[in-house]
Parts: sequence; C-alpha cells; structure tokens
Amino acid sequence: FTAVRYPYLKRGSYSFLSDRHLRFFQSILSPHQVLTDEFNDLSGYNVDWMCSVRGSSRLVLRPKTTEEVGAILQYCNAQNIAICPQGGNTGLVGGSVPVFDEVILSLGLMDAVISVDELSGIAIVQAGCVLEKLETVLHLNNLTLPLDLGAKGSCQIGGNVATNAGGIRLLRYGNLHGSVMGLTAVLANGQIMDCLSTNKKDNTGYDLKQLFIGSEGTLGVVTQVALHCPSKPTSVQVGFFGINSFDNVLETLRLSKQSLGEILSSCELIDQSSMECVTSQLKLKSPVNDFPFYILIETSGSNADHDAEKLNSLLETLLKNGTIMDGTLAADSTQATNLWALRERIAEALASEGYVYKYDVSVPIRQFYQLVDVMRAELGSLPIRCCGYGHLGDGNLHLNITSQEYNTVLLNKIEPFVYNWVSRQRGSVSAEHGVGLKKRDYIEYTKSPTSVYWMRRMKKLFDPNNILNPYKIFPGSLND
Ligand code: FAD
Repeated sequence: FTAVRYPYLKRGSYSFLSDRHLRFFQSILSPHQVLTDEFNDLSGYNVDWMCSVRGSSRLVLRPKTTEEVGAILQYCNAQNIAICPQGGNTGLVGGSVPVFDEVILSLGLMDAVISVDELSGIAIVQAGCVLEKLETVLHLNNLTLPLDLGAKGSCQIGGNVATNAGGIRLLRYGNLHGSVMGLTAVLANGQIMDCLSTNKKDNTGYDLKQLFIGSEGTLGVVTQVALHCPSKPTSVQVGFFGINSFDNVLETLRLSKQSLGEILSSCELIDQSSMECVTSQLKLKSPVNDFPFYILIETSGSNADHDAEKLNSLLETLLKNGTIMDGTLAADSTQATNLWALRERIAEALASEGYVYKYDVSVPIRQFYQLVDVMRAELGSLPIRCCGYGHLGDGNLHLNITSQEYNTVLLNKIEPFVYNWVSRQRGSVSAEHGVGLKKRDYIEYTKSPTSVYWMRRMKKLFDPNNILNPYKIFPGSLND
C-alpha cells in the first residue's frame, strides 16, 4: 500500500483485513451497512472532494447507532485495525480518507434530527445529519444554524464538529466551541462518552466535549451533537461593494462593524483575480465594475426597515467619503443569492482551472492581503493564478494558487514559504480546515512544541493503540 502523493509515509503495523474480521462486522451489522465492492461502492469513499488524496480501503462500515459504533471500535481496538472516520467527505486537508487501507467508518446512516426545541434553541442531532437538512428542519422551528458553509449540501454536523468548521456566520455567532452544548463520542476502546448536555452553563470540572471539537477523528467518533441554534432572522440584507485599495477594505470593515453593530453577520473579501475566475469560469455576473477588491456584507436581524435603513446609510457614507468606489444592495432574496454565489462558488471555479493549491490561514487583519502579494512576487508566472478571498471579518484568508496540473516545482516554491510567512506573523497555518494529512508537517510552525507535546500525550491517553485516523495531524509516526 502506498499513498499516491505521499510515498514517504510508512503503513503502521496494523492488522490486514481478513475474512474473520469481515464475518464479525457482518454479524453485528446488516448487509447494506458493510460495503466491500471496491469499484461500485468504495471508490467515492477512498478519494477526497478535491481528488487530491486517495486511500485503498477495502471496507466501509455504516453504523446506525452509537452502540454499533461502540461495538465496531471495541473490536477494532482489540484486533489492532486502523479506522478512518468519515462524514460528508468535504474536508480539504486530506483528513477524511484513508492513507493506506484503514477501515472507513462512515456516519452517513446516522442522519436523524432527534429533537428541536424552539424555546431553548437546542437541536439534538445524530452526527451524520447533513448540514442543509438540519437547516431545513430548524427553519420549520423558527431557528437557524450558527454556522453556514459552501459545502452545506454534503458536509455533516459530526464532520463540522470534528473539524470545528468556521464558515460565513462565524463573525456573528462564534465557532462551534461556543455553539455545541454537548455531544456523545465513542472512544477508541469502544467506550461511550456521554457529554450530551443541553445546559448552556455547566462549570462542573473539565469541559471534555471541547476535546472532540476540532480533533479531526483522532480522539473519538462523534455520534450525537446538541447544538445551540439562534432564532431565524426575519430580515437578511446583502450589500456588495467595489473597493480600490486594501487600506479602504480595512476602513470598510471598521465602519461596517461600527455602524451595523449587532446585525452584521458576514463580511467576506473577494480579490480581483478570484472575481475574474468566478465570472469567467462559471459565467456569473459581477454587479459592480472592475476593482482590486470586493466586499460582501450581510446583515441578519428581525426588522427589515431598520436593517435596510442601517445598510443604506452605511452604503451612502462609504460612497460619499470615497472608501468604496461602487456598491449595490440586493433588492430581494434572488439577488442576495446571486451575490453570495460570487463568493461561495469561487472554490468550484478555481477547481475548474486544473490543480488547486489551497491555503487556509489566519493572519493579523492588517496583514490580511500581504501574503497574496508576497506569494505572487515569489511565484512569478509559474501558476495560472494566485488569488485571495475569505472571511475578512475573522482574519481568515483563503490563499489559492492554480496550475494546469499538480506540479512539484510549484509546490516546492509555495511550501514551506507560505507557512514560514504565516509563522512570522504569529498567524495559524490552519484557520478553519484543520490539519489532516496535508498540514501535519506544518503544525509546529504556528503551535509551540510544548502544545504539540501535550496534544500527543492526549492522543496517546485516548487512543493508546493509535487506531483512530492514524497518519493525521501529527508529524512523524505515533507508533514509534
Ligand atoms: P469529512 O470531510 O468527512 O471529515 C473531516 C474530518 O473530520 C476528518 O478528519 C474525519 O475523519 C473527521 N470526522 C468526520 N466525521 C466525524 C465524526 N462523526 N466523528 C469524528 N470525526 C469525524 N470549512 C470551513 O470551516 N469553512 C468553510 O467556509 C468551508 N467551506 C467549504 C466549501 C466547500 C465547497 C468545500 C468542499 C469545503 C469547505 N469547507 C469549509 C471544508 C469542509 O466542508 C469542512 O471541513 C467540514 O466541516 C467537513 O465536514 P464533513 O462532514 O464533510 O467531514
């Protein structure tokens, strides 16, 4: 077994799948929960969304209950079988697919919305519930999700928790460390850890659920989540501005925060090159002329007149004082959706150019765009494009570089340059996508050796045999 793009990795000394193992799984699960057909069933599970990493698993298990997950893990731990937990498989750092022949534990059949309480705002959901499905149910109860992302049609709430997904509402509602009230996780030895509290406040000892948020399937398998959901806004307004300098981008952010206050729910940046890609590749139309930068502002509130007045007055001020050069407000929800498409479909547009080198980094807000300029100067004419967009309001830049095909010369020019630069700014090499396989050699660029040491100690404590998502997050081998 070799990993296609990572030939330097060595398979851990795990058991190879045998007929005896298979018979055990078939004895505790129904036939449609045990997939073994390499070509018809397994191929989609073995490759990631970007088709950039590929595993060679021979088995996908699809449990329906926490107890089934418990029985699977208990057996795998005893038999030394490595496991790769998988949600919607939309992760962008190669964490959701096996590296070698790990058994894939897919949460896709655990997709029930167990309960929704409009009064407390708490929804209890099985981990495999697709985000968009959960949102539909929440809307029926006058609630909405505290997170939203372009992958919502496929990603699952368990995967979101496991990656501590950010997205376009983080500015308003914070991240999942604040919104997850409780969860159930199955540990590597099969033990069920019931932390499914629905209490907003609970200071009884260590808050263990937090360990699983962002642990990328390495500490346990999340099977149920209690999520605090805000009231569904009855008024959502979207503005789209064209801006001629990055200094004015920052001023637009400052004034937007100041004048929109509590109704500001998103502040997203698109640079000229990203806009050029999304309009040319997907034939979408920009509502404003050509500018170096564009900002999409969204407000969410409960009084349409009040919110529209605030956004209109912001637009007027920004135009009058020359902070923005052009701007438009969506007149209805169709126009709002079209404006959002310009931001949300950039990833898809870039992918259609060929191979995409994706970097999701946190940088101090004043240095937000410097990295794109520095990278462009470094790469010259090697790539098709080097562009930047992302969650400006959260200091989270998505630096993307495209080339016709995977090219190691280009890769070696980008990495570790990009991580060294982020490290010097005391940013983060992964703002919201996690570490997975792709960034494991770079975790120490922005996390101290002491932090990484204690993370390894925690991993060893929770999963002494290292069966859960091995090869991910940590550089080197945990089995040595
Ligand atoms: P997967 O990709 O299946 O898995 C991700 C990781 O979590 C893996 O390590 C896996 O082993 C682990 N895992 C999955 N389920 C469980 C579980 N139940 N228990 C334990 N471990 C588990 N991310 C953002 O943060 N913000 C964005 O704005 C954003 N936009 C995106 C847009 C597009 C078009 C795409 C393709 C991706 C985007 N992502 C974004 C990345 C991705 O969608 C998120 O990381 C998402 O949270 C992954 O969820 P998933 O269910 O697909 O998990």
